[in-house]
Amino acid sequence: METAESNSSTTRTFNDLPPFQRLLMGPGPSNVHPRVLEAMAKPLVGHLDPEFLKIMDEIQAMLQEVFRTKNRFTISVSGTGSAGMEAAICNVIERGDKIIVGINGVFGTRLADVSKRYGAEVLEVKAPWGEIVPPDAIRDALADNPGVKAVVVVHAETSTGIHQPLEELSELTHKAGALFIVDTVTSLAGTEVSVDDWEIDVCYSGTQKCLSCPPGLAPLTFGDRTMEVMHQRKSPVESWYLDMTMIEKYWGSDRAYHHTAPISMNYALREALRIILEEGLQPRWARHRLHHEALKTGLEALGLRFVAQEGHRLPMLNSVAFPDGTDEAAVRKTLLNDYNIEIGPGLGPFKGKVWRVGLMGESCRKSSVISLLAALGEIFARDGKVTDSGLGISAALEAYADRE
Ligand SMILES: *Cc1c(COP(=O)(O)O)cnc(C)c1O
Repeated sequence: METAESNSSTTRTFNDLPPFQRLLMGPGPSNVHPRVLEAMAKPLVGHLDPEFLKIMDEIQAMLQEVFRTKNRFTISVSGTGSAGMEAAICNVIERGDKIIVGINGVFGTRLADVSKRYGAEVLEVKAPWGEIVPPDAIRDALADNPGVKAVVVVHAETSTGIHQPLEELSELTHKAGALFIVDTVTSLAGTEVSVDDWEIDVCYSGTQKCLSCPPGLAPLTFGDRTMEVMHQRKSPVESWYLDMTMIEKYWGSDRAYHHTAPISMNYALREALRIILEEGLQPRWARHRLHHEALKTGLEALGLRFVAQEGHRLPMLNSVAFPDGTDEAAVRKTLLNDYNIEIGPGLGPFKGKVWRVGLMGESCRKSSVISLLAALGEIFARDGKVTDSGLGISAALEAYADRE
């Protein structure tokens, strides 16, 4: 019988990939510049080829600029943003270490989960979804728990659209003698991340959000204090693949083989970083702010309501509640099938209650804002939620006129 099945499978044919043309306005991945796709299609070289080593040096130099750090240990981890998260934790934490994790959404929850798996005693400082983790709560947790090794927070909580302020937390953390670990997967290259000025000891990101590169690498930087803590570990890092005490020998002058670097992904990241630095960080942050403001005005005109705490909203991730009686899954399906636009659903307590509209990197354009508002206007007018399908666009255009 098995033979019959495998015989029939040899006659099965598979089609070419479709000519995807989605406008990616969800929580990631974002659209990718054609130059990045072209870079990925370049022929391979070996992971120890002098030309590839040069590319690694260039990636390090450009990542240092984007992270705004002089940290020598600044690399791309093989794996998506979650690999960066795991690397940030497992190289610092040893079994029994106490750490504080700020939790106000999916990614803080994931950080706590990862930390527990590596044996940390996790002190969870929780805040409601859609609010920041209050610095006072971290201050109290540090006061009540002497000997905390690290404080871990998410800068841009992609599940809620919250923009966590970092500077005060950094100061509190260092006063207590702990390391400050920050997730910047969604914020890096979309809003300010200043690793040295804000004294972030461990900072990681992912390629698929505001860096506008396919998912597959996780930029990571460790400061001197972190390197010292890592080198003085009593036990080996529990993950072999993400052990930075070994990987630093590949990114450093030894060039010792650890695992084969994902060559094409590093070509892609190099090109994405080049595009970011050509634009400039400040203009790029300003672009994210501008299109967020216009989108916000337009979505509100269509009756959508922003759910993240005012004054702490991310530009690149807009969490919005829709009008009562909206069949939210049906609207997202229509957006995808009829308009080629992807937006994200809510997660956790926000499931079925909000949409997450991304404006990340290449996806953060006036054309994206107008396309989405046009599509939503049409769908809402058809469903009788608005009387005029152009309400969103007119409001957004006014917002642009005020700012341009
Ligand atoms: C997307 C995301 C991650 C995980 O990245 P993956 O690429 O999905 O592994 C981690 N943290 C935050 C804040 C994110 O938005």
